[in-house]
Amino acid sequence: MDTLLDRFIRYVKIDTQSAEESSAHPSTPGQMELARLLKQELQELGLSNIRLSDKGYVMAELPANTDKALPVIGFIAHLDTSPDVSGKNVFPLLFHDYDGSDLILGEGENLVLKAEDYPELKDYIGQTIITSNGTTLLGADDKAGIAAIMTALSHLQSSPDIKHGKIAIAFTPDEEIGQGADHFNVEAFGADFAYTVDGGPLGELEYETFNAAIAHIDIKGVNVHPGTAYMRMQNALLIAMELNGMLPVNERPEFTRDYEGFYHLNKLDGSVEAAKMTYIIRDHDREKFEQKKAYLESCVDFLSKKYCGAGIKLHMQDQYYNMKEKIEPFFHIVTLAEQAMEENGIEPLIRPIRGGTDGARLSFMGLPCPNIFTGGHNFHSRYEFIPLESMEAASRVIVKIIQLVEAQE
Ligand SMILES: [Zn+2]
Repeated sequence: MDTLLDRFIRYVKIDTQSAEESSAHPSTPGQMELARLLKQELQELGLSNIRLSDKGYVMAELPANTDKALPVIGFIAHLDTSPDVSGKNVFPLLFHDYDGSDLILGEGENLVLKAEDYPELKDYIGQTIITSNGTTLLGADDKAGIAAIMTALSHLQSSPDIKHGKIAIAFTPDEEIGQGADHFNVEAFGADFAYTVDGGPLGELEYETFNAAIAHIDIKGVNVHPGTAYMRMQNALLIAMELNGMLPVNERPEFTRDYEGFYHLNKLDGSVEAAKMTYIIRDHDREKFEQKKAYLESCVDFLSKKYCGAGIKLHMQDQYYNMKEKIEPFFHIVTLAEQAMEENGIEPLIRPIRGGTDGARLSFMGLPCPNIFTGGHNFHSRYEFIPLESMEAASRVIVKIIQLVEAQE
């Protein structure tokens, strides 16, 4: 019979890296390939109402096996891997009975996961650690989530003594490029609440995300021959630098953590004639988030007045909001996950996400959706790794959540 490890290895070998620059849905064909494989495996597991949309969303249902009136619980994982690092020809390595030493991924200095650099490795001594060979990412984000869900379904199907209500499953494309919720049909999914299985290390449980906005700034300078520039030139590059200089240095990603928000300059292109800047703005607190946006606007206003010959345009757009406000009215679903972990001997680690999740957007679309761990570390990196035991624990937590709901109603 298929084990969780078999499934995981099978899924990571399909290249499902998403692509920001693509206008297709899903953004890359590999995601459709994995979606088709999962559709087939869901059929083999005997699930019902299996659907694969032309945009790459796989949905399925495990019907209830009890007459009790129970809420429909959803579990969601994403098909794609990060555009940051190649997901092509992933070659997973297994380190059985890990002894606490450096993990040699390949030949060469950069192909070592040093125990010194990753002290969290020592938490997994004696376990099986899975890495890539150091030339690609592993793809535990989020194929560990998919494998944990599929294994939980398989367990439920082979354990008819476990009574449960209807379970809804979705595998979604393009999470890593922020489009995972774009074509998610909440109504068709049919869950009362759901969990994304897309978190990090063992025990992670998340229901707070950033509020997020993106700002594009277009600066048109006044270009004159430098020899005759006196009191005439307005250098777009220098205006861009001045704008960045007005933003608080201590509110940059590299100087913030926990609940501290930031302005992040992630693109700057230009010449004397014209410059373009892109910032992302993040804060967990809605009020501080609005203040950050307002401050950036006021800086642009000031510079527009100061350099009236130049043109400075700001286009700012909200991207997603902190899901906390949508989860709080259904807080029992967080408590449920916490209890499911504790009953499996796992200490829940509740932390704010310094980012977003598909669950954040789904929560605002009417599907409250906290995030639970997969067990993985170093996501979006060639040094990504996951202990098999953590992934198995994720699968057990899924089953436990389902059992707790049945027992509580
Ligand atoms: Zn993910």
